[in-house]
Amino acid sequence: MTRVRFAPSPTGHLHVGNARIAIFNWLFAQKNKGHFLLRLDDTDKDRATEAFADEIIDDMQWMGLTIDSIEKQSNRVQKYDAALEYLKGTGDVYECFDTAEELETKRKIQIMQGRPPIYDRNALMLTRKQKDHKIRCGIRPHWRFKLKDTVVEWHDMTRGKVRLATKHLSDPILIRADGQYLYTLCSVVDDVDMHITHVIRGADHLTNTAIQILLFRALHKEVPTFAHVPLVTDAKGKGFSKRLGFGTIGELRKKHIENIAVVATLAKLGTNSMPTGKETFNALVEDFSFSAFGNSVVKFSLQDLAPLNKKFIRHLTYEDARQKCDRPMDKKTWNVIRNNLNSLQEAPLWHEILFEEIISAKNAYLDHNKYFIAKAIQLLPEHTVTEKTWKDWTNNIRNETGKTGRDLFLPLRLALTGRNSGPEMEKILPLLGRKKILQRLKSVGGQALLRRDTS
Ligand code: GLU
Repeated sequence: MTRVRFAPSPTGHLHVGNARIAIFNWLFAQKNKGHFLLRLDDTDKDRATEAFADEIIDDMQWMGLTIDSIEKQSNRVQKYDAALEYLKGTGDVYECFDTAEELETKRKIQIMQGRPPIYDRNALMLTRKQKDHKIRCGIRPHWRFKLKDTVVEWHDMTRGKVRLATKHLSDPILIRADGQYLYTLCSVVDDVDMHITHVIRGADHLTNTAIQILLFRALHKEVPTFAHVPLVTDAKGKGFSKRLGFGTIGELRKKHIENIAVVATLAKLGTNSMPTGKETFNALVEDFSFSAFGNSVVKFSLQDLAPLNKKFIRHLTYEDARQKCDRPMDKKTWNVIRNNLNSLQEAPLWHEILFEEIISAKNAYLDHNKYFIAKAIQLLPEHTVTEKTWKDWTNNIRNETGKTGRDLFLPLRLALTGRNSGPEMEKILPLLGRKKILQRLKSVGGQALLRRDTS
């Protein structure tokens, strides 16, 4: 059975970059009728919080990514201890006593000399006696994984054949001197224990993959299949940051972007196909394939979501729309307003505008147009208001007043809806009905003038 995991560190908000990784994992699991696991990489005690973990789960649920099971790395330290002991036994790890300052100085010297800043394995020179002495002096060791000098090769689902030479890499630290495990080992141990078949993550993990493949081998475990998807940046080429709270799912939720608009956009980002506004979750699952992705970094602008959101709203059925609205809205209204909504939030507002008493705000523009409105009252066709009424009516007004375009339409729209944009007026008029139309025109001052005119 296909088993995948999304493994965020709960050290910040879920942003579109990592949400996209979650979406890929979920789509792949759905397509293969597999298992989608959420693994919270929360070993960093200083930065990982329960609140961020809860928020990530909530955002995933909002997106519609059903989670089959949840695991937390903080509950699994004994498993990492056991793996580390095993690697100590096989001689694949070694203890180091270098301080952060020493390592930093070495790094600077290497860079100054034009050499790659790779750990020099100084710790391997220490005798047992020297190590014991350091331990007696209260210096606690950290442990590094001893990389074999080799070229690691794998077949990547998006990138094809990948080869990475370990000679360019430092031996990674698996556990720090303070006893905190780092992601490199924990992830491998979890992927083994949780029977992960496919690791789907960002291209920033390519080096980790080379190292982790060697770790799987050192533990004598099966290596999963990998897919590294190209990273996303904002329009200026800057990565999204979970700490800055920019480009987060929370931000999109606040802007009332529909979840399907977010999921469809992120699912298609980096492929040749553009979302149309008609996608469904089922269709996204059906169409999902790693071969559709290129290798280069993709840019994403949050602004692109607004027009797409409008398209998705237009395609919602009345039943879906009503379910998503927290206030009443009937079908007739929905059919009139669906093409003009920026967000579903606006739907009940339009219901109120059309069916309830609106109090016209004092408006200088309308004051200025009082005479025009008075004429409009006089020229409103006598018959029952239909979709044809708007055309007949405005033709009459145009002929009588000589006004055209915005000067003709805007005062009427403003007087009748209180807004200067919105759904087509020809559709709004029949919903309002003759009585309300006259009432609203009069309430913005048309009546007064009319009386003066005719007196
Ligand atoms: N916690 C890691 C991250 O957020 C997980 C990477 C992985 O998927 O293995 O980058």
